[in-house]
Amino acid sequence: MVPTNLANTPLVSETLFNRVQKKLRERKNEYDKRLKHDDEFLSSPLFQCRKCGSKMYPRKGSGGRIDYYICGKCQRYHTCDEPTFQIKKLDDVVALKAVMYLTDPNFRKAKIAECMSEEHRIQAQENVATKQRIAVEIGKKLNRARQRSLETDDAFYSTEVKKLNLSLPALRAMC
Ligand SMILES: [Zn+2]
Repeated sequence: MVPTNLANTPLVSETLFNRVQKKLRERKNEYDKRLKHDDEFLSSPLFQCRKCGSKMYPRKGSGGRIDYYICGKCQRYHTCDEPTFQIKKLDDVVALKAVMYLTDPNFRKAKIAECMSEEHRIQAQENVATKQRIAVEIGKKLNRARQRSLETDDAFYSTEVKKLNLSLPALRAMC
């Protein structure tokens, strides 16, 4: 172990250290609470208001009233008049729909095919981009070689130009 004098002369003061620790603890508590909140309400991250497009937020009904989802604009600014939705009813419908989809073999097959074709499309795009980069590189080399062949009568450069001239159209055709 290498002895340091950090304990005697810390980089931050003890007060600052404690304040930061306290803040971190508070953040963690907030985060944990938020996670629980989202777990509790199934449809919470899924719905947007059909009138204004704002996110729908879950609210606990106070005084024995039922829990409900409310449009964010309606709740905060009262600028939307979309009615509230009962959480239990909506969550039951969502759960039922989810089960129906997940137990439907055709839906599962279609989703898998969709993911595969998306992956295929991305791969194809990457291939094209790579070929285009190579074509650009060859184009640059070609220009440099042309330039040099103009400046010198060295046979090497004119052979290079010929070679690059041959490979460029083939590569462009592949893109
Ligand atoms: Zn709204």
